[in-house]
Amino acid sequence: MRELLYESTRGAGGKVTASQAILKGLAEDGGLFVPERIPELPFQLEELSGLSYQETAYGIMKEFLTDFTEEELRDCIDRAYDDKFDTKEIAPVKEADGSYYLELFHGATIAFKDMALSILPYLMVTSARKNRIKNEIVILTATSGDTGKAALAGFADVPGTKIIVFYPRDGVSPIQKKQMVTQKGENTFVVGIHGNFDDAQSGVKAMFGDRKLAEELAGRGYQFSSANSINIGRLVPQVVYYVYAYGQMMKKGMISAGEEINVTVPTGNFGNILAAYYAKLMGLPIGKLICASNENKVLYDFFRTGVYDRNREFILTSSPSMDILISSNLERLIYRIAGENAGKDASLMKALSETGRYEISGEMKAALADFRGSYADEKETAEEIRRVYRQAGYVIDPHTAVASCVCRKYREETGDGRKMLIASTASPYKFTRSVMDAIDGQYHDREDFELADILSEISGVPVPAAIEEIRTAPVLHTATCETGQMEEAVKQFLGIRA
Ligand SMILES: *Cc1c(COP(=O)(O)O)cnc(C)c1O
Repeated sequence: MRELLYESTRGAGGKVTASQAILKGLAEDGGLFVPERIPELPFQLEELSGLSYQETAYGIMKEFLTDFTEEELRDCIDRAYDDKFDTKEIAPVKEADGSYYLELFHGATIAFKDMALSILPYLMVTSARKNRIKNEIVILTATSGDTGKAALAGFADVPGTKIIVFYPRDGVSPIQKKQMVTQKGENTFVVGIHGNFDDAQSGVKAMFGDRKLAEELAGRGYQFSSANSINIGRLVPQVVYYVYAYGQMMKKGMISAGEEINVTVPTGNFGNILAAYYAKLMGLPIGKLICASNENKVLYDFFRTGVYDRNREFILTSSPSMDILISSNLERLIYRIAGENAGKDASLMKALSETGRYEISGEMKAALADFRGSYADEKETAEEIRRVYRQAGYVIDPHTAVASCVCRKYREETGDGRKMLIASTASPYKFTRSVMDAIDGQYHDREDFELADILSEISGVPVPAAIEEIRTAPVLHTATCETGQMEEAVKQFLGIRA
């Protein structure tokens, strides 16, 4: 196996191993770790249809995480992708309404974050062991709703770790909130901030970049790491399901080996779609990558104009996990289209942090030809949920509906007839109110859990265990803080006096 090392998109700090990159999360210069090259697909396409999820995962992940032994990696994979998922397929592909929905919501918290966050804790603990780390790992996470719960579920009671989650108090769905504040585990801490997701993410990033704070923590036997989608330990497991989906589509006779497909991904922090891009770069036959946004359409504007501009109103939508104006993982794409020029990347990111805006060169823009941005507004999103339900009897959540609507627009605008894989990122049970309102307004006065029962009746899909569990669970986390007090909250939880 050829060793694969990781380097920062901003150029400082030299190269690190995969396990070191996983432990650090973010590079010390504030950049993101990227692999020094993208490995080739380790399978023949014909083989893919015969592989289980776990076999596919091992094949892909061993190419990226070259300092893990086979035993270590297989152990992580077997612990992660077990009966926490409610289907043996782990990520099934469903055909509905002329598209192929890749259901990424069969894990513990019924959203796609489970795909990576069920394995990240094992990758992290293994990485700590490999690097002889004695400190306790403190996972610091900002969430727009789904990451938080998935990370809490993944790390709860994992020895040698603590996890702290900041979420926007008024920016997540009632079910998302209930999922987080009922989280068990001695090592978990959940804080609602008076601000939006970008505030939470900026606060967390600031703590990661604070050397003095790091020293103070080290003195107490702690070190930070990140479970956010900037961690390559999140990104790499996400490449797996695109490769697996392609195999499943072959197996079910939806495509033939080698047939090029398009992929539409409902996008927030740009992690999921970047994983699809990595799968394409590895050699998976993917044509276009369609980046679907909600009304926070900063990425749509970027792909159209080459200008990234976060200076705009932040809009709360029915797809809260995509209510994001700074898509962190985009930096990895910027670095690539800048010809892996860290200086260029760093200066664009400096402009972003200082002015909220940057513009890429014509040459860089030309390198974005594989991508296309589009968006769906709130009305279109609701209509798409209703339409897909009426036409196919298939219920999708608002995030998936954004993608589904965008996919239809793309087809109409371009006439591109290639088969479309749509990343279906959350169970409709996580967003019952928006979903039921879209399907039939008459249920508007019912409470959320009642809506879940109605949804089950009309869709024929049983209420997932993840929802049943939180119906009656006691609230265990009530902490809140101002955006400027996040560091104090962390210190308090860790028992460090400010
Ligand atoms: C996180 C999330 C997204 C956005 O994914 P990114 O990788 O951040 O682009 C979309 N839908 C759902 C349901 C999510 O939880």
